[in-house]
Amino acid sequence: MLKTGIFLFSNDLRLEDNPALTLACREMDKLICLYCPSQPSTKNRIRGPSKLSTHRLHFLHQSLQTLDQNLHSQQQYLLVREQPLLDAVAELITLHDVTHVYRSRNAGWYENHEWNTLVSRYPGIMFQQKHSHTLFTEDELPFELNGLPTSFSKFRRLIEPAMISSPTSRPPSIPPSPLLEVTSEFLKTNIDVKNPFIFEGGENAGRQHLNNYFSQNLASSYKLTRNGLDGMDYSTKFSPWLSNGCLSVRSVTARLREYEKDIESNDSTYWIYFELLWREYYQWYAHKHQSALFTFKGISASNPKTSFYPQRYQKWCHGNTPFPIINALMNQLNTTGYMSNRGRQLVASCFVHELNLDWRYGAAFMESQLIDYDIASNWGNWQYLAGVGADPRGHRKFDLDKQQSIYDPNGAFTNQWRGNEYNPTLDSVDASDWPIQGVEKNNQL
Ligand SMILES: Cc1cc2nc3c(=O)[nH]c(=O)nc-3n(C[C@H](O)[C@H](O)[C@H](O)COP(=O)(O)OP(=O)(O)OC[C@H]3O[C@@H](n4cnc5c(N)ncnc54)[C@H](O)[C@@H]3O)c2cc1C
Repeated sequence: MLKTGIFLFSNDLRLEDNPALTLACREMDKLICLYCPSQPSTKNRIRGPSKLSTHRLHFLHQSLQTLDQNLHSQQQYLLVREQPLLDAVAELITLHDVTHVYRSRNAGWYENHEWNTLVSRYPGIMFQQKHSHTLFTEDELPFELNGLPTSFSKFRRLIEPAMISSPTSRPPSIPPSPLLEVTSEFLKTNIDVKNPFIFEGGENAGRQHLNNYFSQNLASSYKLTRNGLDGMDYSTKFSPWLSNGCLSVRSVTARLREYEKDIESNDSTYWIYFELLWREYYQWYAHKHQSALFTFKGISASNPKTSFYPQRYQKWCHGNTPFPIINALMNQLNTTGYMSNRGRQLVASCFVHELNLDWRYGAAFMESQLIDYDIASNWGNWQYLAGVGADPRGHRKFDLDKQQSIYDPNGAFTNQWRGNEYNPTLDSVDASDWPIQGVEKNNQL
């Protein structure tokens, strides 16, 4: 009997170093390469802006188009179904006698919930998944997932001596699809954006960026420049390709090791690895804590003392707060879909500690905007800054004036991104506008 499989692409939009895809290609006679761009349910999550930013959509779209082209070069294609994943899979299973379903493991709670629903719904089908978003597989970790250290420093000490396996090449051949090819409208649509930064989605552009970065010797000074706020060169800019899975983190690390062997190994090249370990830590943190990644008190014992101020939230989102550096950073994010690591720390600190807002709404806003959005890195970093995550100090409040004087001493960045154009009033309603009395009155009626 012919074996027919479905491969579910998600944040692994590449052919190289994709172990689950390689396995599916080895085991199947026919294969359906499926992607469902449907939004994850907001069940158990905070409801952020209802749409993804044009920049995020654009990068994703280009990544899917490249994946489709690369599949075509191996006589396959990407089936894009704009419907809930569970419905799309159910239809394909019924119509094509599917025997196997494969995917790369995912750190997301909702994505795992969907997968587990499929597994329990179809006991006669074989489900297989492999790690491809991390440096290590779960078996390679020097501790049980439940014993993940509570701080990054402890994690780093344990993980640093562990060996990283080499990335694998693309599957030599991909089994043909049992379906007649129909190019989806989603892939045909062109999304037009103007971006002063050069971010082109997809596996091929990702490889090119990786090679460009290392051919310019920028890695040798990364530690000195990494806190920059603007431009392409002060940090690696690997994150959009890593987050969408156009590049694997093992390929990035292998290229870094090559640079260290052939060109130079110093504090800066080590620091790139150090930052990739932060990424690794948050991936396992998300795998371990699952839905607690999205709860108000995170993994801490008590709720933060923040609240809801709709006006302040809107002002933060639109770069109209009394803090010029924050406005500039938010304008940069809204214009490009990207913000530096230093910038993200400052805007998150401002959201929680200056504006006193519930951190989850800031995280949800960034989820909708960032072209490098990654469940684990975004929500994990926000928890850390809100004092409800993996921070032994439990509190990260940045002095915004001091930060501006260090990282934007001449105000060039703030001017360039129009940080000084703001309304100095933070709250234009006062306590008497709070609706509690009205609600009580209504309840008595
Ligand atoms: C509030 C907040 C939200 C964030 N949301 C995301 C997100 O959604 N997606 C995302 O990829 N990163 C996120 N980060 C982490 C970090 O800001 C970005 O990874 C980094 O700015 C990307 O630019 P780069 O590739 O040039 O980084 P580089 O400085 O060149 O670092 C190299 C790589 O290391 C990893 N890395 C660096 N810093 C971190 C960090 N603090 N946490 C996890 N990984 C890190 C990234 O994969 C990055 O590509 C967030 C940080 C904060 C403070």
